[in-house]
Amino acid sequence: MRVFNFAAGPATLPVEVLEQAREELTDWHGLGTSVMEISHRGKPFLAMARESESDLRELLAVPSGYKVLFMQGGGASQFSVVPLNLVAREGCVDYVVTGHWSQRAIAEARRLVAHVNVAADEAASNYSTVPQQEALRLSAGAAYVHYCPNETIGGVEFPYVPATSGVPLVADMSSTLLSRPIEVSRFGLIYAGAQKNIGPSGLVVVIVREELLGRARADIPAVWNYQSVAAEGSMFNTPPTFSWYLAGLVFKWLKRQGGLVAMAERNRAKAQALYAAIDASGFYSNPVARECRSWMNVPFRLRDERLEAPFLAEARAAGLVNLEGHRSVGGLRASIYNAMPPEGVAALIAFMQDFQRRNG
Ligand code: PMP
Repeated sequence: MRVFNFAAGPATLPVEVLEQAREELTDWHGLGTSVMEISHRGKPFLAMARESESDLRELLAVPSGYKVLFMQGGGASQFSVVPLNLVAREGCVDYVVTGHWSQRAIAEARRLVAHVNVAADEAASNYSTVPQQEALRLSAGAAYVHYCPNETIGGVEFPYVPATSGVPLVADMSSTLLSRPIEVSRFGLIYAGAQKNIGPSGLVVVIVREELLGRARADIPAVWNYQSVAAEGSMFNTPPTFSWYLAGLVFKWLKRQGGLVAMAERNRAKAQALYAAIDASGFYSNPVARECRSWMNVPFRLRDERLEAPFLAEARAAGLVNLEGHRSVGGLRASIYNAMPPEGVAALIAFMQDFQRRNG
């Protein structure tokens, strides 16, 4: 039996994709082997790799002049891979701090770059807000501006793309990429760990403007050098082949759903319904400022914290699982990525209302 899985990542995947993978697992494309057991340099895998990249480019309308890389190491690898590729040790970079993941990113930058400027830090609101554009203190000579458009733990999302006066904008889109259309040309570099909207963990997708290639430090490990990886079509070394294949199936699934315009409409409606139920309840609460509430990650609390444990246990028994908040903040959280169907959100809302009737 499939449950409704609200995990923040690794997160639920479309059941159609899992069924197709099961169907093809032992005999992929009539080869008599699985996709995991063949060379990444052979024709069948290369064809799959090219097609998945082209599907991703189509979904996101990636303009020419950008490379799409399928790399290893997950989202957090990029916290250090980005500075190693884009700025000299004695250079200057800007970071916007809006919660856990941007804090993790700036911590790595501080180890690797001499001048790390905090363009904004939302500590004063306990990370329940994002800074206004006018509040960003950007430095003139920065090699890039880094921010996290969607903070997975805090459930805080930027309702706008920061303007940076020509300085390359770097975005950790791990928990928002593919949730809606974006204007890729606004970004110098986008990265996203796969285990939310893309596929299995370990894989990280990087979309980088070509003119930013070739700025890497001389002592960067070769496997992390975007230019080397791009030159080899993400085959500088063996890529995570099964994750890449599964991501390719997810891209096809997204196209069948009507692409990112359709996903955005569905995601907006899911999030709106859940926030409306929380706000109307007087029993549950969400701490995030309304204009920057995440479509993907909805943290919430119960009026009486002692009810959290029974809430989670009863939810689990009702087939609604992984609603625990991140261990660093506690409380509850429903992650409602692309693969969470509207019926899953409806079932959660109905359960929440029933739980309130019995305990409110
Ligand atoms: N950035 C964000 C926004 C994330 O949500 C996560 C993981 N939850 C990461 C980075 C780190 O990803 P990984 O664990 O794949 O390194």
